[in-house]
Amino acid sequence: MATLGNPQNTIAVLQKYQFNFQKKFGQNFLIDTHVLDKIIAAANITKEDLVLEIGPGIGTMTQYLCENAREVVAVEIDKNLIPILEDTLSEYDNVSVINGDILKVDINKIVEEKNGGKPIKVVANLPYYITTPIIMGLFESHVPVENITVMVQKEVADRMQVGPGTKEYGALSLAVQYYAEPYIVANVPPNCFMPRPKVGSAVIRLTCHKEPPVKVADETLLFRLIRASFNQRRKTLVNGLQNSPEITATKEEILAALDSMGVSPTVRGETFDLEAFACLANALTK
Ligand code: SAM
Repeated sequence: MATLGNPQNTIAVLQKYQFNFQKKFGQNFLIDTHVLDKIIAAANITKEDLVLEIGPGIGTMTQYLCENAREVVAVEIDKNLIPILEDTLSEYDNVSVINGDILKVDINKIVEEKNGGKPIKVVANLPYYITTPIIMGLFESHVPVENITVMVQKEVADRMQVGPGTKEYGALSLAVQYYAEPYIVANVPPNCFMPRPKVGSAVIRLTCHKEPPVKVADETLLFRLIRASFNQRRKTLVNGLQNSPEITATKEEILAALDSMGVSPTVRGETFDLEAFACLANALTK
């Protein structure tokens, strides 16, 4: 089987199997070897690593991963791609393909069985319709992960990376930065994919923190505060929190907490960084 990653070989495989792209699965296959090289380099894959690939498609990036990693586990939802993957990956004995939905697969079990519970690396050209649930699912289920290197919509990559004072800043920025250090590796134009997506893309690497950068007594409260403040971006932080069904603190308690932090009662949530939200969560926990 010839190496994929260029338009000719990709078209040959698609024709051989008369494959029809499924829009509902966010199928945009990579056809640019430079981008593939960049992803592998940014993820810092070595022969020690177990790599989880989400959505291998016809196996383009999977081939690169098999060459560079110790072992690869690839989870693909589309059953029509399974016979294609058997063909395109037939030369490799260090890969297993699971036909399933990544949001339902027990990744902790895979890490336990295949990597003795040690941190893995996650690499994917993600289906854009479920980027946030996939990434937050990995973080929140506390799967041992060293880094996550993924292709996402450019706008989403920007939102993950920015801090206060930009219009992209929001709940996703804070959630991602609580768990990991984001770094945008490359911007990728639509012509690097088949079919071309309507939006620009970017590769982002999330290097997972060993310990969260802020300490909070109640992690659930921290995330409730973050969500509530950005749900009503135009309101003051106090009003935003008061209007949220998720927050039980009274106006007086919130004002007292802000006062203890030396912050104005009319502050807006969008000016708060992760540390400020952590201080607020801890003040309200007291
Ligand atoms: N990795 C391939 C590449 O770069 O050419 C394909 C990337 S394509 C953007 C996304 C892939 O994820 C598709 O193969 C799609 O079928 C698969 N996919 C979509 N939803 C999925 C899910 N919930 N679980 C696992 N795979 C999924």
